[in-house]
Amino acid sequence: LTSYRGRRVVVLGLAKSGVAAAKLFHSIGADVIANDKKAREQCPEADQLTALGISVVCGGHPENLVTEETALLVKNPGIPYSAPPVVTAQRLGVEVVTEVEVAGQLSAAPIVGITGSNGKTTTTTWTGVLLEEAGLKPVVAGNIGRPLSEAAQEVSADGWLLAELSSFQLKGTEEFRPKIACLLNISETHLDYHGTMEDYVASKAKLFANQTSSDFAVYNEDDAMCRELASGFKARKLPFSLTRKLPQGVAVEPPYPDVRPGPDEEVEAERWIVYRDENGGERRIIRIDELGIPGRHNAANALAAIAVALAAGAAPEKLVEPLRDFRGVEHRLEYVGTFGGVKYYNDSKATNPMATTMSILSLPAPLILIAGGLDRGSDYMELLPVFRDRLKGLVALGETREKIGKVASASGLAAVKVVEPENDAESTLRRAIEEAADMAAPGDIILLSPACASWDMFPSYEVRGRIFKQSAHTL
Ligand code: ADP
Repeated sequence: LTSYRGRRVVVLGLAKSGVAAAKLFHSIGADVIANDKKAREQCPEADQLTALGISVVCGGHPENLVTEETALLVKNPGIPYSAPPVVTAQRLGVEVVTEVEVAGQLSAAPIVGITGSNGKTTTTTWTGVLLEEAGLKPVVAGNIGRPLSEAAQEVSADGWLLAELSSFQLKGTEEFRPKIACLLNISETHLDYHGTMEDYVASKAKLFANQTSSDFAVYNEDDAMCRELASGFKARKLPFSLTRKLPQGVAVEPPYPDVRPGPDEEVEAERWIVYRDENGGERRIIRIDELGIPGRHNAANALAAIAVALAAGAAPEKLVEPLRDFRGVEHRLEYVGTFGGVKYYNDSKATNPMATTMSILSLPAPLILIAGGLDRGSDYMELLPVFRDRLKGLVALGETREKIGKVASASGLAAVKVVEPENDAESTLRRAIEEAADMAAPGDIILLSPACASWDMFPSYEVRGRIFKQSAHTL
């Protein structure tokens, strides 16, 4: 990176990762211009950068931001490639990267990169706990919330830089090379940004592109798209599977009949997670029913975390306790408490019908679901079978309340309540919880799993989840 000393680096987008990148390049003596299209008042860290002596330009992208003198453009992952400064940079042959590429060049430690359409934060957090318990000194960062380039400056050479990576971040990498790359699954999300499925898959594939035979590629053998990509991997392959007996890798034995969550009758206690090495050596790690968090999707996340930890050199016996004691990540099937004999779960992060389906299937019936939120035109009919088979009642709120209420009625569910907006969002959500509590009997479960984003009512899914938890406690 020192090659950028005295040269012009443009940082586009002043969110956390952009601020970190601007500071980093400034500290190595680059001539940094930080730019954001938002007004200066909306860039809270602009003053801090200016105080350091960094040029900060807010409120638009000036025509001459990127010139032939520009050595590098570091862009926020969310900024599209069609944004004018990015188009100019590409026309002039200026290298365009995300902050992840920078972090990769900076890290003294080997890197674990975890990506996928679903389960990234859960798997990355869990892997972090496994590596920590195994004494492998991980520093967790990336899409999970902390800029990767900041963590890359802190991690010690004998530790691991453990990165959660989105496809947006990966698209802006060139030489990024994780020692261990992990691909959880690929489904058709984020097509609005990537435009095509090919582009989305190609972004995910970049995680593996620079690996060699001394690296590891952990991937989901149950996912057809992952299997197809794996045929091109150059790294040592370490597959994981819920449904197949693997000659080598991490699998469930006996295998599940299907990756989709199944009925309660399946006896989890008889299923083990087993690691089989390339010499045919076999080791039982833990029973499925002992895992700290429920649901078949979380068993898949555990398989991936175990595979990564073993590749990083963790001793298998060190994994059992943190696999058993993990309580998940906030807002993802998070157990809130039992009030009036009713168990409350906060799954505010479930922002699409697929995630809500998984969650409903992960908990024992009878369930009362609170759902609804921003209308992004998803097909809520997808929810009909789980509504029919698993719900005792449904309370709908938010922009999609009518649509989701209709699906519930069509499923034959008798207890359906559509909550009209009150003066403020918090009161509306409280009202919904009260309605759900009225439907519940001791022993039931009330689950907030909206199947929709939160922005019709709340600034984020975190705020929605916290209000749910507070309200449950104070009802
Ligand atoms: P991400 O970081 O990729 O958004 P999270 O770990 O935050 O994923 O989980 C978000 C939601 O996605 C969870 O509440 C759950 O409903 C669903 N989910 C988690 N893991 C998986 C998985 N392996 N496969 C499918 N869905 C999953």
